[in-house]
Amino acid sequence: MSPTSRLYDVVVLGAGAAGLMCAAVAGQRGRRVALLEHNAQPGSKILISGGGRCNFTNIHCGPDRFLSANPHFAKSALALYQPQHFLELVDRYRIPWHEKTLGQLFCDHSSRAILDMLLAECERGSVELILSARNIQIDRASTGDFHISCSQGEFLANALVVATGGLSIPKLGATGLAYDLAGQFGLRIIEPHPALVPLVLGADEAHWTSLTGVSTEVDAWAASNGKKPGPHFREKMLFTHRGLSGPAILQASSYWRPGAPLTVDFAPTLPAGQRLLDSMFQPQARRDAIAFRNALRAALPQRLADRLSEVAQPEGWTNAALESAERGLRHWEFHPVGTEGFEKAEVTAGGIDTVDLNARNMEARNVPGLFFIGEAVDVTGHLGGFNFQWAWASAVATARAL
Ligand SMILES: Cc1cc2nc3c(=O)[nH]c(=O)nc-3n(C[C@H](O)[C@H](O)[C@H](O)COP(=O)(O)OP(=O)(O)OC[C@H]3O[C@@H](n4cnc5c(N)ncnc54)[C@H](O)[C@@H]3O)c2cc1C
Repeated sequence: MSPTSRLYDVVVLGAGAAGLMCAAVAGQRGRRVALLEHNAQPGSKILISGGGRCNFTNIHCGPDRFLSANPHFAKSALALYQPQHFLELVDRYRIPWHEKTLGQLFCDHSSRAILDMLLAECERGSVELILSARNIQIDRASTGDFHISCSQGEFLANALVVATGGLSIPKLGATGLAYDLAGQFGLRIIEPHPALVPLVLGADEAHWTSLTGVSTEVDAWAASNGKKPGPHFREKMLFTHRGLSGPAILQASSYWRPGAPLTVDFAPTLPAGQRLLDSMFQPQARRDAIAFRNALRAALPQRLADRLSEVAQPEGWTNAALESAERGLRHWEFHPVGTEGFEKAEVTAGGIDTVDLNARNMEARNVPGLFFIGEAVDVTGHLGGFNFQWAWASAVATARAL
């Protein structure tokens, strides 16, 4: 250990959403904070988030909007720091925002405003932001302090906050540092996997890819193999050149595991009791392939209706056969062969196992002074601003304990 190690109360690793927020709040509480980031710029994901407008929170935030092996873990942090708290900060900086849909709050202009706000908050807390800090290594000094060495020098701190995120979008600088450190200090990991990610169809279902660009409202849900189905998502589905995407699929993808089907109701907007094929049940109605296609065309985009009329045709024209075709269209199973991976995943599900963390402050149960926050932890939000809300909330829970 070098005698030139710089001394801090807290070193935060990763200047993303959670790291910036934690460093700012801890700094404003009078802690001497260094924030180490291996990229040359902070907050890369904030800048590209929400299509460049950062969906920074969701007013309908609640624990049921998150996946975790322990669904109760996030409750305490989410209750401590709620969407209105972040909104107060946004308003204090006079950042114009709007609600787009389903409680999702976006900047009117650019995500840059959120990053600038967090950097200004760090400045208010006299946080030392150290960029291009590569090859971070951690060990424990004889005093019990954390000793951090990296390309930017050596640091000593009473507390170490790991906010280096998950594995999604490696080209923006995502690494597995949080998982490596968890392993080093004896914390368990729930296997990380891509979430909020497009799904890929195999050769048997490759014909769907000819519908690339077709979008339709569906109800979609998925089940991990052998587990109960995840929640239903009624939003748009988009056919792509590799498979399925769009908000409904991204949402369901977080619950999908290899080998399980992805189920879709092609007519989620029909009032209860009404059938997609109702016209074919009318007295004297024509019952043949053309009538079937026309019934589908009345409710669905034409290219999709035409494809379904080929692949979902009833096995005859009796009431029972039509009922069975109707059920098939309301519970259509796709069999994805994979996801588009961490390169395309908006978030990483899994991560630091919450059994090894204190839910009130994110501190490792067996390593006093070591904290994990944000996406690195096994708490993954639905699409729509929930992942940032978790980043803010977990960061504040930790910062107030430092
Ligand atoms: C394209 C895209 C759009 C998104 N849009 C939204 C949205 O609109 N709303 C929403 O709620 N969520 C959105 N998300 C998800 C959201 O960005 C993340 O959940 C959130 O940024 C997680 O915050 P974090 O601080 O835990 O991790 P990150 O923001 O990923 O920050 C981690 C930081 O650690 C740094 N780091 C990583 N490894 C190392 C290392 N070895 N050494 C030093 N530093 C390291 C990284 O460079 C990064 O700066 C989006 C994600 C993507 C990819």
